[in-house]
Amino acid sequence: MSDSTLQETAKPGHNSGTTLTLDQSHKNYETAQSVLPGGTTRATIKRTPVPIYMSHSEGAYLHDVDGNRYLDFVGNYTAAIHGSLFPPVAEALKRQLDLGTCYANPTEWEIKLAGVLADRIPAVDKVRFMNSGTEAILFAVKAARAYTGKSAIAKLEGAYHGGYDWVEVSESSTPENWGEGDPVSTPYYEGMPRSVLEDTVVLPVNDVENSRRILEANADRLACIIVDIMPSRAGLIRLRPDYIGMLHEVTKAHGIVLISDEVLNFRYSYHGISHAFGLKPDLISFGKVIGGGLPIGAVGGSNEVMSVFDSSQGAPKLKQGGTFAANPLSMVAGYTSMQYLTPEVFDHLNALGDQVRTGIAMIARDLDLQLCASGGGSIFRLHLLAEEPTGYRAAWTPPKAETLMKEIASGLLTRGYMIPSDSSACCSVPMTDDDIGSFLSALRDVLTNMPDAKARIEASVAERAT
Ligand code: PMP
Repeated sequence: MSDSTLQETAKPGHNSGTTLTLDQSHKNYETAQSVLPGGTTRATIKRTPVPIYMSHSEGAYLHDVDGNRYLDFVGNYTAAIHGSLFPPVAEALKRQLDLGTCYANPTEWEIKLAGVLADRIPAVDKVRFMNSGTEAILFAVKAARAYTGKSAIAKLEGAYHGGYDWVEVSESSTPENWGEGDPVSTPYYEGMPRSVLEDTVVLPVNDVENSRRILEANADRLACIIVDIMPSRAGLIRLRPDYIGMLHEVTKAHGIVLISDEVLNFRYSYHGISHAFGLKPDLISFGKVIGGGLPIGAVGGSNEVMSVFDSSQGAPKLKQGGTFAANPLSMVAGYTSMQYLTPEVFDHLNALGDQVRTGIAMIARDLDLQLCASGGGSIFRLHLLAEEPTGYRAAWTPPKAETLMKEIASGLLTRGYMIPSDSSACCSVPMTDDDIGSFLSALRDVLTNMPDAKARIEASVAERAT
């Protein structure tokens, strides 16, 4: 990479860099608490100290109701790949709004969007649409059950796959409950049915031999193994090639359906992430970017496994409906957005991601801090560690590190840069090299001005070791 692409731009952040004025957000939050539990609808909404209420967006920027502007590295948790207002999608939606928002009949847009996925992704012959990534996971797991006649599933420790009970198991395991040896199936919420825990087998990330042993011991009852090749909540670490090879061997040998969760990581490349990593899934779950900013989910896969959804010859093995499934607005937005996600656009996005990760490594070196970034493509995640972690337990953020990460995210926010403190950040198509340069410059400034940053980061690393 040339020096010029690594340059940090000296220009100041977009906001004052001292404190944010959030008067209107404070007022909104007060009202919200009387009608919403905890004042919000999503557990992932950050309070900084109150949720920041947005007014509008342009390009890669968001504007809040108090007049602050942020360069957005959250991107609605990676969904807003073109930014939150993409004019071609807005225009296409306006045209569709004049024609109707939903019918109990299909539209041509559904065929077009399914065609884009089938054309781009070698593992996809057929597609079914839903309204969220959660549903895309739920129906992929059910399809695997209907296809195999088995009910248990296997998943990676710490991996997030949305709100379906079985995939929530061990999603937020901690040192208090993850056990000494093989990962223990830990409940995600009080009252999670025991049967769910019993029917979910949890695998240690990137531990080939132990995962193989656990899978083989449970093969007779496993309908599927669900993996995210770069599980964001588990640290945005990458599955190693030998781990992927083991997944192929075990699933083929035992008739287990291999599901790739690409709800978040489809944006890794033009052909999706499984293709880029040589994973050959039977089913893929999609969401986020394929909806062009509107709610969407989809399951795609081979003709054979997808045939469980086929109701043309009578009752299907798996009935999947949904009042708003394949609604024309989501289909129009998704199809239009995908037309602009060309191979060249992915090259641009991924170069931005490389620039961020390399820049963070340089900052860590210059300031002599234990700091690194994991990820790939246009997605990155900060860790207060000298080296990129390779498993969930190494990536897990202990309380001291969590506090520091919040401080870093808050320092960036006051300077006009929005990143999530506890999950993955992403670049968007409208971002430029200069945007990345100014972000890196702000990050350097935040870390330089953080009192006792080096000692406190070291203390947080020591906390992991204990
Ligand atoms: N899987 C992964 C990997 C995700 O990141 C998400 C959402 N963050 C989901 C599934 C669930 O998607 P949704 O929020 O659309 O239900």
